[in-house]
Amino acid sequence: MDVLIVGLFIVAVVAIVVAGIVTAVSRRGRAPAAAPPSSMPAAEAPSPARRRSDGLGARARALLTGGTPGGDEWNRLEDLLLKADVGPAAASRMVRDIRDRYEVGADPEDLLREEIVGLLGEDGALRLPSGRLGVVLVVGVNGAGKTTTIGKLAARLAREGRKVSVANTDTFRAAAAEQLDAWARRANVQLIAQQRGADPGAVAFDAVESARARDVDVLLVDTAGRLHTRTPLMDELQKVKRVLEKAAGTVDEVLLVLDATTGQNGIAQAEAFASAVDVTGVALAKLDGTAKGGIVLAVREGLGVPVKLVGTGERIDDLQAFDSRAFAERILGG
Ligand code: GDP
Repeated sequence: MDVLIVGLFIVAVVAIVVAGIVTAVSRRGRAPAAAPPSSMPAAEAPSPARRRSDGLGARARALLTGGTPGGDEWNRLEDLLLKADVGPAAASRMVRDIRDRYEVGADPEDLLREEIVGLLGEDGALRLPSGRLGVVLVVGVNGAGKTTTIGKLAARLAREGRKVSVANTDTFRAAAAEQLDAWARRANVQLIAQQRGADPGAVAFDAVESARARDVDVLLVDTAGRLHTRTPLMDELQKVKRVLEKAAGTVDEVLLVLDATTGQNGIAQAEAFASAVDVTGVALAKLDGTAKGGIVLAVREGLGVPVKLVGTGERIDDLQAFDSRAFAERILGG
């Protein structure tokens, strides 16, 4: 009896061992097909800060990791950049630079980050003087966000302790004057008023005189923005700028306000303004209205001037100094 039990036990153990071996062998045979098709090696697993699986950075990383990228991968990287609204010129420049710097094992997201920051440049600060009147001329098509940006900027400069005045040279549209008046009240700064229909150049001259008489630190000048393709507007802006230069000695900044939601169309407009009045910086309004921040890169590449301010909403505090590193993170994640 004991011998029978021991015998059965041995048979059972052998059966279990044999079954285990058979299962292991059959699993091994199926292994390649059973593995997830795009499983990422542990070393490549995204860190918590990089868990943006559909962001530009993560996509570039997926595209360029795991072997030397070829023409197809570089073309697909360019497509990714174009979809992010980076524009053709900036996209091809970025791909060329990254391809030149690429080494096996490099982190594609880091390469892209360095490229974005390099293209944008580190310094986007407004150049405002101390000890004399600073003049900022603000241009752009109607609806871009000029008056709103002036209102927000006036509030910010005033908060920093500067005495600010705003003036409107668009004497043609009654609504323009009313709107600037409303922003001046909100920002608690002085509006230098003008008569309806007055000559824009004369308004600019009076605004400088008046700002000087009041010991103002910064004068922000709003302008007309009707159809940019009509030469009279560009003539008018050039005249306003000449008068400001003559009256104040210099115009410290010519800020072009661009609507971020207009995408690549905005670039052609921007070029017309840039060649007429030597734009020194861009204020990109309505960045809250688009997920495609790439327009900033298109502007930088197309105009060669830095983005200095970013509008992120309609409230008075929704204006930020442009920070290329923070922006790079935004575009890599979006
Ligand atoms: P202007 O004709 O160039 O002076 O443009 P406005 O300043 O009148 O702005 C046109 C519209 O854009 C207004 O409805 C503003 O409230 C809106 N706007 C301006 N800046 C921003 C922004 O940064 N974000 C959003 N969401 N709206 C903005």
